[in-house]
Amino acid sequence: MTERFVTRGFVGRRSAAGDGDAAARVPPGQYLTTDFPVLSAGPTPRTPLERWSLRIDGLVAGPMSWSWEEFRALPARDWTVDISCVTKWTKLDMRWRGVSVDTLLEHVDLDPAAAYVVAWSDGGYTTNLPLGDVLNGGAFVAFEYDGRPLTPEHGGPARLVVPARYFWKSAKWIRGLRIQREDEPSATTTGATSGAKSATTATDATVRTMASPIDWQLATVSAVRDETPSVRTLTLALPAWAGHRPGQHVDLRLTAEDGYSVERSYSIASEPERAGEIDITVERIPDGGVSPFLHEVIVPGDRLEVRGPIGGYFVWESSHGGPLFLVGGGSGVVPLMAMLRHRARSGSGATDRATSRVAARLLFSCRSPDDAIYRPELDALAAADPDLEVVYTFTRLQPPGWSGYARRVDRAMLAEVLEPLGAEARTYICGPTALVEVTANALVGLGLAPDRVRTERFGPSGT
Ligand SMILES: Cc1cc2nc3c(=O)[nH]c(=O)nc-3n(C[C@H](O)[C@H](O)[C@H](O)COP(=O)(O)OP(=O)(O)OC[C@H]3O[C@@H](n4cnc5c(N)ncnc54)[C@H](O)[C@@H]3O)c2cc1C
Repeated sequence: MTERFVTRGFVGRRSAAGDGDAAARVPPGQYLTTDFPVLSAGPTPRTPLERWSLRIDGLVAGPMSWSWEEFRALPARDWTVDISCVTKWTKLDMRWRGVSVDTLLEHVDLDPAAAYVVAWSDGGYTTNLPLGDVLNGGAFVAFEYDGRPLTPEHGGPARLVVPARYFWKSAKWIRGLRIQREDEPSATTTGATSGAKSATTATDATVRTMASPIDWQLATVSAVRDETPSVRTLTLALPAWAGHRPGQHVDLRLTAEDGYSVERSYSIASEPERAGEIDITVERIPDGGVSPFLHEVIVPGDRLEVRGPIGGYFVWESSHGGPLFLVGGGSGVVPLMAMLRHRARSGSGATDRATSRVAARLLFSCRSPDDAIYRPELDALAAADPDLEVVYTFTRLQPPGWSGYARRVDRAMLAEVLEPLGAEARTYICGPTALVEVTANALVGLGLAPDRVRTERFGPSGT
């Protein structure tokens, strides 16, 4: 779509980035946040400092390695930089302390053929960069953020930071830099969000045309349904929709008359078996720039710019097998619902229902029964299917006579709910950062292989 499409009724909520200097520092399509969102695709590694080391090897005359004490004794400095993430946020003036990559490389002799660097991390994540991008002050290994030790959720004890690149290049939990002659694609297992965009954050308008392989298309809102008092589902009719996989999301773009534009991501709630339309389910964030608009202004017949489907990691299809363990908090249940709806459809038809569906359990954390999105449908699915169980925990308010869980998700609860599925379960966790962190770490502690634990977070950072 080349011409600008103006979203009916959208005037936009101007943040501090709406005008002037701050706006000029926000790349096209990004929105300014004061939060520090946590984004990673699996459990957070926690290597004790006494076992931590940082290594430089590859095309160097002599590999080099530092223990934590040795690394901390290297000359460090403060950095105040703007960071942009492929998930659309930009945060200005982030204050870090760390050791420049230039300082690290002073300790090795680079081979003249050295052209690329691969940063590798605890958890199996690697990220590739041209060597030129990390030299001359282009990158540093940070160990403090905002005057405090870097927390594990944000990549502590140490992470690479490459301010001129989208944040997924800034490998969390860094353990080494491998110098290479050739480039090597990144391996996104647990370390950061994957992204379809090129890694550059240049504010140049060409970024948009270069960066996204996915075109915007116009969806018509064909139905609107309230799920809970603060959550509603929009059905979007998409004539040019190529189909999606359960767990993927779309981007929505709203544009005001004056050109002011914002984008947000929303998981697809519906199963891929429904052709030509998708559901998205949106929680109303009271002071939000987009979700209140989707609640208060949008009516059937309105048109919205959409692109997608996006994401290939937080995806489950029936062909992946099971057992399937889903843990959701609040609106984090949305992509999990797509998986359950797909699972329900995959066993029907000519195939034998009993054998074609994998055993599945959903542990759903909600504040109260009224906040349990899709509850009637979830209960009906479970009632009709002996291999599916939906377990609720109501953390603030329980229904009269409730004998189920009434606390936040914890290790003991996870052990109980996981038990019938066993440690081979394919696990998908989605919700606020705190829930995702607790759950992913507890499940790894309970013996699940980290590569079977996939996470997605869409709340605030909680830090
Ligand atoms: C891959 C992905 C999938 C997503 N899927 C969904 C989905 O299916 N349904 C859905 O409702 N949202 C989903 N989100 C979140 C969504 O993209 C928006 O962030 C959310 O709707 C808030 O946007 P906003 O413009 O209303 O608020 P903003 O203007 O972005 O934020 C306003 C304030 O609220 C805080 N905030 C943002 N999100 C939350 C939250 N969830 N809870 C509490 N505080 C918050 C911000 O930190 C900020 O302080 C998803 C996000 C991602 C990255």
